[in-house]
Amino acid sequence: MKFDFHCHSNLSDGFLSPQELVDYACERDIQLLALTDHDDVGGTTLMKATIEQRALSLKLVEGVEISAMSDFGEVHIVGLNVDPTNSNLTQALSQQKQQRWQRIEDIDHQLARLGIEGVLAGVKELALQIPTRSHVARVLVDSGYAKDFQQAFKRYIGKKAKVKTAKNWMPLDDAVEKIKQAGGIAILAHPTRYPLSNRKLGYLIEAFAQAGGEALELSYPSLNRDKQNWLNLHREKNQMLASSGSDFHYPDLRWTDLGRFPPLDSQIPHVKEWLLEKNQALRVELSQSCARD
Ligand code: AMP
Ligand code: MN
Ligand code: MN
Ligand code: MN
Repeated sequence: MKFDFHCHSNLSDGFLSPQELVDYACERDIQLLALTDHDDVGGTTLMKATIEQRALSLKLVEGVEISAMSDFGEVHIVGLNVDPTNSNLTQALSQQKQQRWQRIEDIDHQLARLGIEGVLAGVKELALQIPTRSHVARVLVDSGYAKDFQQAFKRYIGKKAKVKTAKNWMPLDDAVEKIKQAGGIAILAHPTRYPLSNRKLGYLIEAFAQAGGEALELSYPSLNRDKQNWLNLHREKNQMLASSGSDFHYPDLRWTDLGRFPPLDSQIPHVKEWLLEKNQALRVELSQSCARD
């Protein structure tokens, strides 16, 4: 069964609308998909309406990717199976959205001091729900200050670039708590993408488990086999599950295309099983739709 548990729509920093994402997933024969927008849970409802209207067999898992602060710096926590109407979760996300707008204002001020005007207005036009540094990068590219995203990040808004971007995210423990209060499972996203030594990454995984985190992403683009094996040892040590996802944002980035991530040993306990165990109706529907294909 083809699935993907990590991707973005244009409600955060993806390029496709939730409705377009439905078509894109169907074209790629994906049967089970979790939309995990940054700090937003609204997209899945829009996708469900499209699926229903067109009687498609694609199944969805409610998801989110929360930016959080740990003792080891910024981390991203994917939540799956979250109730998008749970007020603990939605209140925390709406606070985080406010923080994000303040951060964009701050970035706008710093860029104005460098002679670059109008970034806040540009982001306001582009961002449908959640404003991100990706939107700032798009404005910088569109107005000719950078030739592409990479350059915009390198010069202006990335690590060690000219603009200092605040990281006023909710604490790691809160992110895990809100996901769990909304009925979800908390997954540490792309663990090897944080700028940490192996020793510190090990401590981060331990801290995440102690906070109630229950899974690690163990399959995503760019993760090599050695690193995957290393992560798997830490997954086992902390009695966690594995998850897989492409972190898809744009159709033209082929190496992070939807449904594309390295294989995972079938012996490794996976979040997919947890989801199907929680939702027996989904298990039955999926087995029926797979049998038809
Ligand atoms: P934010 O959550 O506002 O800090 O925005 C971070 C988003 O920017 C990430 O989710 C990535 O999609 C994107 N991003 C971060 N670094 C880069 C980079 N060097 N080049 C392109 N996109 C990036
Ligand atoms: Mn992103
Ligand atoms: Mn992320
Ligand atoms: Mn992501």
